[in-house]
Amino acid sequence: MLSRGGTSVEAVEAAVSVMEEDDTFDAGRGSFLTSEGHVQCDALMMCGKTLRAGGVGCVERVRHAVQAARLVLEKSPHVYFVGPGAEDFVHSLGMDLIDNSELVLDRERARLAEAQERAAAGLQDATFSGDEAGLPAEFASHDTVGAVALDREGNLAAATSTGGTLNKTPGRVGDSSLIGCGCYADNESAATSLTGWGEPIMKLVLGKWACDRVGEGTAPEAAARESIAYLHRRLKGHGGIILLDRKGRYGIAHNTPQMAWALRTEQIKAADTVRSA
Ligand code: ASP
Repeated sequence: MLSRGGTSVEAVEAAVSVMEEDDTFDAGRGSFLTSEGHVQCDALMMCGKTLRAGGVGCVERVRHAVQAARLVLEKSPHVYFVGPGAEDFVHSLGMDLIDNSELVLDRERARLAEAQERAAAGLQDATFSGDEAGLPAEFASHDTVGAVALDREGNLAAATSTGGTLNKTPGRVGDSSLIGCGCYADNESAATSLTGWGEPIMKLVLGKWACDRVGEGTAPEAAARESIAYLHRRLKGHGGIILLDRKGRYGIAHNTPQMAWALRTEQIKAADTVRSA
């Protein structure tokens, strides 16, 4: 899309839509389920040129939350819509609404049942050390998706989309769709998408923190590492980040056991870079 002259906003929407459609990830179809067995999605998109942002929270009847976020960004003076109000807003602009069951997989029903059994038995997740070690499994459930892009005009954009955490209480909103937390873009600094255990990321407004480091002169590679170190140092948080500046310099860092990522430039094809480590 970028090589055909598309904008960075169009590119991040396209990349995130592909990942929402892929049931591997915790976004769109295949997301983790709420404690009541629904998929409830959050997404944010931000344009670095205009600083316009569009976010949706707790949407259940939208197939692609990132596309709903783009409608908010482009068609509304507001930044954030939630729940049925968000669904009505995008529907009024022509987006089809779906039945929530189209997003729910049997795999996730089984995972939810297991998490609820574990919670009832008082068992805790063994994946993480530090403060997260004592938490129920849902706090260690990651797989949110995101993208950052730089277009030919030199404009940055970022987008993040999630189904949130496993067994979350309906109505809970995480870091992913909150501006400056799981997503941020500013042509004067950088574009970022990040995720992990959402609550610590929110408390540190970590996306804006990372972009500000780049704005102050830190290279994205170092700023990405510093952001994850800061998350862990301050709140023993875990997560992963992708960060891109207007020179096309990028940073990728995580302290979760794994993070899948891919990179595409004029010289490098994404397929050559896909990583899960
Ligand atoms: N960061 C997301 C949230 O807290 C979920 C995740 O990827 O862990 O909603």
